[in-house]
Amino acid sequence: MNFSIFSLEGKTAIVTGANTGLGQGMCVALARAGADIVGVGRSDMSETEALVRTEGAEFLPVKADLLTLEPIENILDEAGKRFRKADILVNNAGIIRREDAENYSISDWDDVMNTNLRTLFFLSQSFAKRLIDSKRGGKIINIASMLSYQGGIRVPAYTASKSAVMGVTKSMANEWAKYGINVNAIAPGYMVTNNTAKLRSDPARYAEILGRIPAGRWGEPSDMGGAAVFLASAASDYIHGFTLAVDGGWLSR
Ligand code: NAP
Repeated sequence: MNFSIFSLEGKTAIVTGANTGLGQGMCVALARAGADIVGVGRSDMSETEALVRTEGAEFLPVKADLLTLEPIENILDEAGKRFRKADILVNNAGIIRREDAENYSISDWDDVMNTNLRTLFFLSQSFAKRLIDSKRGGKIINIASMLSYQGGIRVPAYTASKSAVMGVTKSMANEWAKYGINVNAIAPGYMVTNNTAKLRSDPARYAEILGRIPAGRWGEPSDMGGAAVFLASAASDYIHGFTLAVDGGWLSR
């Protein structure tokens, strides 16, 4: 079998939240498939840079606080200056704030919605505009969640944002498929990253969640790699608006 359909040779991928966790896992996988990486984030990305370079790919770090829309054009300009073009955008950066729904603050609501949804949409919009203007196709991969499907506990803004990510993925896909832009999402299950540190530190919740995962283990950042490469590559050219769960079977339970 010829696996070149999954090759990302000659492609450039922008990955937000590249310094750690799932973003780092996806940077490494995309680099291994041949893509150069533009890592976007507010923290030091040297660990990811070293991992990507070990795969033989280039890495450009772009500092940006994605709480606001202000850095968007600079991210795309920097990617264009260094690599001439960007082909793939992975909207991975996201935050979670936990509080009982009756006490949930407006500032937590706004921070979560702005980071997880508002920036994701407007970065995608600017990325797509550049592709459309230059008559090139491309790939957008949004990171959704199990809480795109379920309600969750003590995370109302996160659930609202991730449910909307799944919806807006379909909405963008419907409008941009005709330009050769694929917009899809990945819904990770319960993964070992900073995002779930609090959950994992509660032994009862940890065991409860583990007991419900058919695969019998929490996910690791490397588990995201296959789905990310698939949705970034020509292998998924006729797939639009779909959210692919990488969840050890959680949703099938
Ligand atoms: P993580 O380790 O907390 O990573 C989140 C990433 O987003 C970090 O790189 C973080 O940067 C970045 N980020 C957050 N706010 C930012 C901002 N204002 N500006 C720039 N970067 C910002 O958790 P993760 O699990 O890898 O999360 C990655 C994505 O997967 C998120 O969208 C999350 O919601 C989603 N997800 C995770 C799970 C899970 O089980 N872990 C499940 C479903 C979905 P800093 O390190 O600087 O904070």
